[in-house]
Amino acid sequence: MRKIEHIGIAVKNIEVAIKDYEKLLNTSCYKVEAVESEGVKTAFFQVGESKIELLEATNADSPIAKFLEKKGPGMHHIAYDVDAIEVEINRLENEGFQLIQSSPKDGADNKRIAFLHPKTTQGVLVELCQERTQ
Ligand code: ZN
Repeated sequence: MRKIEHIGIAVKNIEVAIKDYEKLLNTSCYKVEAVESEGVKTAFFQVGESKIELLEATNADSPIAKFLEKKGPGMHHIAYDVDAIEVEINRLENEGFQLIQSSPKDGADNKRIAFLHPKTTQGVLVELCQERTQ
């Protein structure tokens, strides 16, 4: 794992949250992107070498909708930047971690991603992400 790529924060209203975070971080949101397969709308901010990702649910079945229902707005996941996501998935499965996806899928912000179940990572949802090369 190379660095913390971003921290994901679940929000109820992304328009309001973008305004709050633009003030908090004193920088503009550089990208708003919907990921239909995940049922989320995302907004990204650069903070040094890492990013903040705000996530709003776009439908009632979205994992973000379920998270908000249970826990309310707040920190949702930590994403680590990796060089070779398949290699890292294999390594972590061999180490006994439970992957939510055992093969990477397309995520927001030009990434290939996979999630680890929080029950094997001390209660934190972990995302692996690798920059998509096209
Ligand atoms: Zn993320």
